[in-house]
Amino acid sequence: MIFLKTEDEIELLRKSNLLVGKTLAEVAKVLQPGVTTAELDKVADEFIRDNGAEPTFKGYQNPYGGIPFPASICTSVNGQVVHGVPGDVVLKDGDVVSVDCGVKLNGFCGDSAYTFCVGEVSEEVRNLLKVTKEALYIGIGEAVEGKRVGDIGYAIQQYCEDHTYGVVREFAGHGIGREMHEDPFVPNFGKRGSGPLLKRGMCIAIEPMITLGDRKVVLENDDWTVRTLDFSPAAHFEHSMAITSGKADILSSFQFIEEVLGDKVF
Ligand code: MG
Ligand code: MG
Repeated sequence: MIFLKTEDEIELLRKSNLLVGKTLAEVAKVLQPGVTTAELDKVADEFIRDNGAEPTFKGYQNPYGGIPFPASICTSVNGQVVHGVPGDVVLKDGDVVSVDCGVKLNGFCGDSAYTFCVGEVSEEVRNLLKVTKEALYIGIGEAVEGKRVGDIGYAIQQYCEDHTYGVVREFAGHGIGREMHEDPFVPNFGKRGSGPLLKRGMCIAIEPMITLGDRKVVLENDDWTVRTLDFSPAAHFEHSMAITSGKADILSSFQFIEEVLGDKVF
Protein backbone atom coordinates (compact mmCIF):
# COMPACT_ATOMS: atom_id res chain seq x y z
CA MET A 1 0.00 0.00 0.00
CA ILE A 2 1.26 3.47 -0.88
CA PHE A 3 0.80 6.02 1.90
CA LEU A 4 0.32 9.64 0.78
CA LYS A 5 1.85 12.14 3.19
CA THR A 6 0.37 15.38 4.50
CA GLU A 7 2.34 18.62 4.34
CA ASP A 8 3.15 18.29 8.05
CA GLU A 9 4.44 14.76 7.53
CA ILE A 10 6.56 15.92 4.60
CA GLU A 11 8.15 18.56 6.84
CA LEU A 12 9.01 15.85 9.37
CA LEU A 13 10.52 13.76 6.58
CA ARG A 14 12.55 16.80 5.54
CA LYS A 15 13.99 17.14 9.06
CA SER A 16 15.01 13.48 9.08
CA ASN A 17 16.53 13.70 5.62
CA LEU A 18 18.45 16.89 6.39
CA LEU A 19 19.95 15.11 9.39
CA VAL A 20 21.07 12.33 7.04
CA GLY A 21 22.75 14.92 4.79
CA LYS A 22 24.51 16.47 7.78
CA THR A 23 25.60 13.02 9.00
CA LEU A 24 27.11 12.22 5.60
CA ALA A 25 28.95 15.55 5.78
CA GLU A 26 30.45 14.51 9.14
CA VAL A 27 31.61 11.29 7.47
CA ALA A 28 33.07 13.32 4.59
CA LYS A 29 35.17 15.34 7.06
CA VAL A 30 37.08 12.26 8.27
CA LEU A 31 37.12 10.27 5.03
CA GLN A 32 40.70 9.93 3.81
CA PRO A 33 43.25 7.20 3.06
CA GLY A 34 44.02 5.26 6.26
CA VAL A 35 40.61 5.53 7.90
CA THR A 36 38.62 2.32 8.48
CA THR A 37 34.99 1.95 7.56
CA ALA A 38 34.25 1.15 11.23
CA GLU A 39 35.62 4.59 12.15
CA LEU A 40 33.24 6.19 9.64
CA ASP A 41 30.38 4.25 11.21
CA LYS A 42 31.31 5.48 14.69
CA VAL A 43 31.29 9.12 13.52
CA ALA A 44 27.86 8.67 11.92
CA ASP A 45 26.33 6.75 14.83
CA GLU A 46 27.40 9.35 17.38
CA PHE A 47 26.24 12.27 15.25
CA ILE A 48 22.81 10.70 14.64
CA ARG A 49 22.27 10.00 18.36
CA ASP A 50 23.63 13.42 19.43
CA ASN A 51 20.88 14.89 17.27
CA GLY A 52 18.16 12.90 19.03
CA ALA A 53 17.59 10.41 16.22
CA GLU A 54 17.97 6.67 15.80
CA PRO A 55 20.05 5.05 13.07
CA THR A 56 17.46 3.00 11.16
CA PHE A 57 20.03 0.67 9.62
CA LYS A 58 21.27 -0.67 12.95
CA GLY A 59 19.41 -3.89 13.73
CA TYR A 60 17.55 -3.82 10.41
CA GLN A 61 16.33 -7.33 9.71
CA ASN A 62 17.96 -9.05 6.76
CA PRO A 63 15.32 -10.04 4.20
CA TYR A 64 17.51 -13.09 3.37
CA GLY A 65 17.68 -14.19 7.00
CA GLY A 66 20.90 -14.16 8.98
CA ILE A 67 22.13 -11.39 11.22
CA PRO A 68 20.43 -8.00 11.54
CA PHE A 69 22.53 -5.15 10.06
CA PRO A 70 25.21 -4.44 12.68
CA ALA A 71 26.04 -0.79 11.90
CA SER A 72 24.53 2.67 11.41
CA ILE A 73 25.75 3.25 7.85
CA CYS A 74 26.48 1.04 4.88
CA THR A 75 30.00 1.44 3.48
CA SER A 76 30.40 -0.18 0.06
CA VAL A 77 33.94 -0.01 -1.27
CA ASN A 78 34.95 -0.26 -4.97
CA GLY A 79 33.22 -3.40 -6.36
CA GLN A 80 30.77 -3.46 -3.46
CA VAL A 81 27.51 -1.92 -4.65
CA VAL A 82 25.32 -1.50 -1.57
CA HIS A 83 24.83 -2.77 2.01
CA GLY A 84 28.56 -3.04 2.75
CA VAL A 85 29.15 -3.71 6.45
CA PRO A 86 31.61 -1.31 8.15
CA GLY A 87 34.59 -3.05 9.71
CA ASP A 88 38.38 -3.04 9.84
CA VAL A 89 38.78 -2.38 6.10
CA VAL A 90 41.28 0.46 5.69
CA LEU A 91 40.39 2.87 2.88
CA LYS A 92 43.29 3.56 0.55
CA ASP A 93 44.17 6.12 -2.09
CA GLY A 94 42.18 5.46 -5.25
CA ASP A 95 39.21 3.73 -3.58
CA VAL A 96 35.62 4.82 -3.93
CA VAL A 97 33.13 4.23 -1.13
CA SER A 98 29.37 4.56 -1.16
CA VAL A 99 28.12 5.69 2.22
CA ASP A 100 24.40 5.11 2.75
CA CYS A 101 22.73 6.49 5.87
CA GLY A 102 19.27 6.23 7.38
CA VAL A 103 17.77 7.85 10.46
CA LYS A 104 14.45 7.97 12.26
CA LEU A 105 13.49 11.22 13.96
CA ASN A 106 10.01 12.12 15.31
CA GLY A 107 8.72 8.85 13.84
CA PHE A 108 9.81 9.59 10.26
CA CYS A 109 12.72 8.23 8.26
CA GLY A 110 15.50 9.80 6.24
CA ASP A 111 17.54 7.89 3.66
CA SER A 112 20.30 9.17 1.39
CA ALA A 113 23.61 7.96 -0.03
CA TYR A 114 26.70 9.47 -1.65
CA THR A 115 29.72 7.83 -3.27
CA PHE A 116 33.00 9.41 -2.21
CA CYS A 117 36.48 9.34 -3.73
CA VAL A 118 39.32 8.41 -1.37
CA GLY A 119 42.40 10.42 -2.38
CA GLU A 120 43.11 10.39 -6.11
CA VAL A 121 40.70 8.24 -8.13
CA SER A 122 41.16 7.27 -11.77
CA GLU A 123 39.32 9.34 -14.34
CA GLU A 124 37.44 6.24 -15.51
CA VAL A 125 35.95 5.66 -12.06
CA ARG A 126 35.35 9.36 -11.36
CA ASN A 127 33.32 9.45 -14.55
CA LEU A 128 31.23 6.51 -13.31
CA LEU A 129 30.45 8.50 -10.15
CA LYS A 130 29.66 11.64 -12.12
CA VAL A 131 27.27 9.84 -14.48
CA THR A 132 25.56 8.02 -11.59
CA LYS A 133 24.93 11.29 -9.79
CA GLU A 134 23.64 12.84 -13.01
CA ALA A 135 21.39 9.81 -13.50
CA LEU A 136 19.92 10.37 -10.04
CA TYR A 137 18.90 13.92 -11.01
CA ILE A 138 17.60 12.73 -14.38
CA GLY A 139 15.41 10.23 -12.51
CA ILE A 140 14.27 12.97 -10.13
CA GLY A 141 13.29 15.01 -13.19
CA GLU A 142 10.74 12.30 -14.03
CA ALA A 143 9.37 12.15 -10.48
CA VAL A 144 6.39 14.39 -11.13
CA GLU A 145 2.69 13.99 -10.38
CA GLY A 146 0.96 12.25 -13.28
CA LYS A 147 4.03 10.34 -14.48
CA ARG A 148 4.66 6.73 -13.50
CA VAL A 149 7.38 4.92 -11.57
CA GLY A 150 8.54 3.29 -14.82
CA ASP A 151 9.32 6.73 -16.28
CA ILE A 152 11.92 7.22 -13.55
CA GLY A 153 13.58 3.86 -14.16
CA TYR A 154 13.47 4.25 -17.93
CA ALA A 155 15.26 7.61 -17.77
CA ILE A 156 17.97 6.35 -15.41
CA GLN A 157 18.54 3.17 -17.42
CA GLN A 158 18.79 4.97 -20.76
CA TYR A 159 21.24 7.53 -19.47
CA CYS A 160 23.53 5.00 -17.81
CA GLU A 161 23.42 2.45 -20.62
CA ASP A 162 24.18 5.22 -23.13
CA HIS A 163 27.41 5.60 -21.13
CA THR A 164 27.93 1.79 -21.45
CA TYR A 165 27.49 1.26 -17.71
CA GLY A 166 25.55 -1.56 -16.03
CA VAL A 167 22.29 -0.89 -14.19
CA VAL A 168 21.81 -3.17 -11.18
CA ARG A 169 18.38 -4.82 -11.32
CA GLU A 170 18.13 -6.61 -7.97
CA PHE A 171 17.93 -3.54 -5.73
CA ALA A 172 15.88 -0.39 -6.12
CA GLY A 173 14.54 2.79 -4.65
CA HIS A 174 11.37 2.74 -2.54
CA GLY A 175 8.67 4.67 -0.79
CA ILE A 176 9.72 6.32 2.48
CA GLY A 177 7.77 7.53 5.48
CA ARG A 178 7.24 6.08 8.93
CA GLU A 179 9.09 3.06 7.55
CA MET A 180 12.39 3.30 5.70
CA HIS A 181 11.14 0.97 2.98
CA GLU A 182 7.54 1.48 1.90
CA ASP A 183 5.72 0.91 -1.38
CA PRO A 184 6.23 1.52 -4.22
CA PHE A 185 9.35 -0.27 -5.39
CA VAL A 186 11.28 2.25 -7.57
CA PRO A 187 13.61 0.33 -9.94
CA ASN A 188 16.44 1.98 -11.86
CA PHE A 189 15.24 0.40 -15.09
CA GLY A 190 11.85 0.13 -16.72
CA LYS A 191 9.43 1.04 -19.43
CA ARG A 192 7.97 4.45 -20.03
CA GLY A 193 4.39 4.80 -18.78
CA SER A 194 4.53 1.61 -16.67
CA GLY A 195 4.19 1.05 -12.95
CA PRO A 196 2.34 2.93 -10.21
CA LEU A 197 1.07 6.44 -10.92
CA LEU A 198 2.99 9.19 -9.12
CA LYS A 199 0.65 11.24 -6.95
CA ARG A 200 1.12 14.39 -4.94
CA GLY A 201 2.10 13.47 -1.38
CA MET A 202 3.96 10.30 -2.35
CA CYS A 203 7.44 10.25 -0.85
CA ILE A 204 10.09 8.11 -2.49
CA ALA A 205 13.82 7.46 -2.48
CA ILE A 206 15.53 7.18 -5.87
CA GLU A 207 18.92 5.44 -5.75
CA PRO A 208 20.70 4.38 -8.95
CA MET A 209 23.28 1.61 -8.42
CA ILE A 210 25.52 1.64 -11.47
CA THR A 211 28.49 -0.52 -12.44
CA LEU A 212 31.53 0.13 -14.59
CA GLY A 213 31.43 -3.46 -15.88
CA ASP A 214 28.76 -6.14 -15.94
CA ARG A 215 25.56 -5.39 -14.02
CA LYS A 216 25.43 -8.83 -12.34
CA VAL A 217 25.79 -8.79 -8.56
CA VAL A 218 26.33 -11.40 -5.85
CA LEU A 219 25.77 -11.48 -2.11
CA GLU A 220 28.92 -11.88 -0.03
CA ASN A 221 29.21 -14.37 2.84
CA ASP A 222 28.23 -11.79 5.46
CA ASP A 223 24.66 -12.03 4.05
CA TRP A 224 24.62 -8.26 3.52
CA THR A 225 27.29 -6.92 1.21
CA VAL A 226 26.25 -6.83 -2.44
CA ARG A 227 29.15 -6.72 -4.89
CA THR A 228 29.64 -6.91 -8.62
CA LEU A 229 30.28 -10.44 -9.86
CA ASP A 230 33.21 -9.19 -11.98
CA PHE A 231 34.58 -6.98 -9.13
CA SER A 232 34.22 -3.88 -11.33
CA PRO A 233 33.67 -0.64 -9.39
CA ALA A 234 30.15 0.56 -8.66
CA ALA A 235 28.55 3.86 -7.70
CA HIS A 236 25.43 4.68 -5.71
CA PHE A 237 23.73 8.02 -5.05
CA GLU A 238 20.37 8.43 -3.31
CA HIS A 239 17.93 11.21 -2.55
CA SER A 240 14.55 11.09 -0.80
CA MET A 241 11.83 13.37 -2.17
CA ALA A 242 8.16 14.29 -2.11
CA ILE A 243 6.09 14.26 -5.30
CA THR A 244 4.41 17.58 -6.08
CA SER A 245 2.61 18.94 -9.13
CA GLY A 246 5.86 20.49 -10.35
CA LYS A 247 9.49 19.53 -9.73
CA ALA A 248 9.97 16.95 -7.00
CA ASP A 249 10.68 18.45 -3.58
CA ILE A 250 14.05 16.89 -2.69
CA LEU A 251 13.99 16.32 1.07
CA SER A 252 17.56 15.08 1.50
CA SER A 253 20.54 17.26 0.63
CA PHE A 254 24.07 16.89 -0.72
CA GLN A 255 24.79 20.54 0.11
CA PHE A 256 26.43 19.83 3.48
CA ILE A 257 28.57 17.06 1.97
CA GLU A 258 29.64 19.15 -0.99
CA GLU A 259 30.58 22.08 1.24
CA VAL A 260 33.03 19.71 2.93
CA LEU A 261 34.31 18.33 -0.40
CA GLY A 262 34.85 21.86 -1.78
CA ASP A 263 36.65 21.85 -5.12
CA LYS A 264 36.68 18.03 -5.18
CA VAL A 265 32.98 17.98 -6.15
CA PHE A 266 32.33 16.96 -9.74
MG1 MG B 1 19.81 4.40 1.49
MG1 MG C 1 17.08 3.66 0.19
